[in-house]
Amino acid sequence: MNDFEAHVIALNELLGQIAREHEWLVAAQREHQAVSGVTRPETVRAWLAQNYRFEQPMALENVVADVGGKLRQWGVQVTHPRYFGLFNPTVPGAGVVGDALTAHLNPQLATWSHSVAATEIERHLIRFLAPSIGFDPETTFGCFTTGGQESNLTAVILALTHQFPTFGATGLRGLDAHPLIYLSAEGHHSFHKIAHATGLGRHALRIVPVESKRLRMDVRALRRAIEADRPTPTDSSPPGAPSRSAVVPAMIVATAGTTTAGAIDPLSEIADVAAEVGAWLHVDAAWGGAAALVDSLRPYLGGIERADSVTWDAHKWLSVPMGAGLFFSKHPAAVEAAFAATTGYMPAGSASARDPYSTSLQWSRRFIGLKLFLALAEIGAAGLAARIERQAEMGRLLREKLIAAGFFAINETPLPVVCFSHPQIESGAIRAGAVASRLHEAGRAWISKVVFATGRTALRACITSYLTDSSDLDVLIAELAHALST
Ligand SMILES: *Cc1c(COP(=O)(O)O)cnc(C)c1O
Repeated sequence: MNDFEAHVIALNELLGQIAREHEWLVAAQREHQAVSGVTRPETVRAWLAQNYRFEQPMALENVVADVGGKLRQWGVQVTHPRYFGLFNPTVPGAGVVGDALTAHLNPQLATWSHSVAATEIERHLIRFLAPSIGFDPETTFGCFTTGGQESNLTAVILALTHQFPTFGATGLRGLDAHPLIYLSAEGHHSFHKIAHATGLGRHALRIVPVESKRLRMDVRALRRAIEADRPTPTDSSPPGAPSRSAVVPAMIVATAGTTTAGAIDPLSEIADVAAEVGAWLHVDAAWGGAAALVDSLRPYLGGIERADSVTWDAHKWLSVPMGAGLFFSKHPAAVEAAFAATTGYMPAGSASARDPYSTSLQWSRRFIGLKLFLALAEIGAAGLAARIERQAEMGRLLREKLIAAGFFAINETPLPVVCFSHPQIESGAIRAGAVASRLHEAGRAWISKVVFATGRTALRACITSYLTDSSDLDVLIAELAHALST
């Protein structure tokens, strides 16, 4: 063995050690680390201004110790087993190693030829995951993205490209139609930014009401909304406004696991509507997509297989470090049309191994898939499914414990998120936001306040860590009781 080989082995061993230290530390946060605290921006700015003028070189070990300490102190510790906030998971050591190895080798995934192993590893993962959402791995286009926002943007670009062949060349201005996107009131707000960024305009979003109890898209209201947008013979638009007679239902977004309440829109019924009106069906399963890997949860996603495209974040319920999104579509031709690019300086790709820069939004591309690949390889598909299922069970247990403690649940979902309130909150004795703030200050468990599209306010607790156990739920309940009593 030569020196180089010996050092490669040493590095691999160190990476393994990082994985083990990471896993020990995330679990030990329960005993030794607050989930959150209160920090003023002035405190952080003063520390930076005093210590980091970058005038003298500094020893890396010292900087890491200093910055690492501040990161633990000043910020919400989302990997903590008692972080019950938004979908920011505890990550396994394999995920950390995936990002470290990616940074070490820094592969450029713009082109296949530069990063043969890396692009093929991502392709392998896409083909492995596609069947779980009922997509055929042979014909599905899939890619890694930075997250749900990029995946949803990709979906809108493909929908427009597919529906309107001239869109790519002459843009929205060249269309005589005015494309609309239908989305539930509980759908993700990334679509507002996307409507803005694509030039569709925020008014091109049609916000469909949800059923009052299950908070799923009300399909009859969807039909009514589409009907109301249909051209009528008597239609006369105000001057300057796009002619209503030209509006087209270009896309329907169904959400499988809403951000607020984990509601799963009735996917099959929405797919029927999309088929009837010729709209592109996008399923935003950024969080809920992971349910597709679990036999007991998969039926709740029934209908997802009829989507034209799907958003599914690996950095949410697949528990790998940010940013790791997934995007799937049944329309590779639209992908080719939308993202085609040829230059004199990029090596030419081939039909059998497409270059990611010409089939996706990104150009220079990080090896996003490695952290998922390592995590999945280490735990196995059954192990990952068991992890996801256990979190769903913790969600059910949390619901029971909250009810036993005098709270009541507002949402209904098989996914592990509980939106809840308490008679004292309903009577106005204390506001939901004040309860959440008291927990944040105490730092023993972190939950959020939510406001539904209806204006109703509630508390929201989500199982985002695969380490969360029954004792963590008990601490949360005790903290809530304490916040209500003080
Ligand atoms: C989180 C989320 C998004 C946005 O995804 P990012 O990865 O944060 O960009 C989109 N849709 C839903 C339903 C989400 O929960």
